[in-house]
Amino acid sequence: MKTQTFQLTTLSQSSLQDYLDCAQRFKLRYLDRLSYPAIETEPTLENEKHQQEGEYFHRLIQQHLIGIPAEQIARFANTPNLQRWWENFQNSKDLAGIKTLAVMYPEATLSAPLGKHRLLAKYDLISVEQGKVTIYDWKTYRKRPRNEWLVARMQTRVYRALLVQAGAHLNNGRPFEPEQIEMIYWFADFPEEPARFPYTAAQFQRDWDVLLKLSAEVATASSYPLTEDRQKCLFCTYRSYCERGIQAGNVEQAEAEMEAEELFDVNFEQIGEIAF
Ligand code: SF4
Repeated sequence: MKTQTFQLTTLSQSSLQDYLDCAQRFKLRYLDRLSYPAIETEPTLENEKHQQEGEYFHRLIQQHLIGIPAEQIARFANTPNLQRWWENFQNSKDLAGIKTLAVMYPEATLSAPLGKHRLLAKYDLISVEQGKVTIYDWKTYRKRPRNEWLVARMQTRVYRALLVQAGAHLNNGRPFEPEQIEMIYWFADFPEEPARFPYTAAQFQRDWDVLLKLSAEVATASSYPLTEDRQKCLFCTYRSYCERGIQAGNVEQAEAEMEAEELFDVNFEQIGEIAF
């Protein structure tokens, strides 16, 4: 198949995670921009529905945070999953304070130069309160991932580091100190088990060095090998293209064998508007 190869000027946590997981997937998705119609997992319909509900849930919270009353939001939480997530969100002790005390920036986008690229991130919520800044990320995973897995994800590294690099306008023109930052993953189905990741200057330095190195690698890469971890192919859109199998893995298998919920993560660019 002949494909056009694009120049990539912007990097995100998703593209960097793809690059680390499988350089070939990165190439197919971001350089060739190849959409290949393999089904990622079975059963398809159920997963699609879960993904759509996850996207819708993000939109409901965003609307609530910008001022739409809870009663109005509740009317739109009209499936069992949405109802449960919305109730969990409202009743969560960990989230109780965010609306009352903090200055909130829901769905904030930050970007900064990174080597030859621009690094860009879209945050579910950045909340600033008395010298402390918290990054919230809503997850509708069916399984609570391990903290060890989460802390190593590019999302955790990119979101905190980029807030140091590009968040000064949220802090009266002064860059945030890494020690002011905490990232919280809040799980809609595990509302009392959020994952909290504070930050330090040493972690920031390490993260930014890694990001610069990755940017340089991406800019000069000439080969994009297929991952050796065939487990990753089981749920990959491109597996028939790579001749790594036609049949998709199923969700139970995914959840049993790996922290596969990344595959069902909400992609902000896909979230549509809801008319209130
Ligand atoms: S099928 Fe496997 S080798 Fe091919 S892009 Fe996906 S993860 Fe990489």
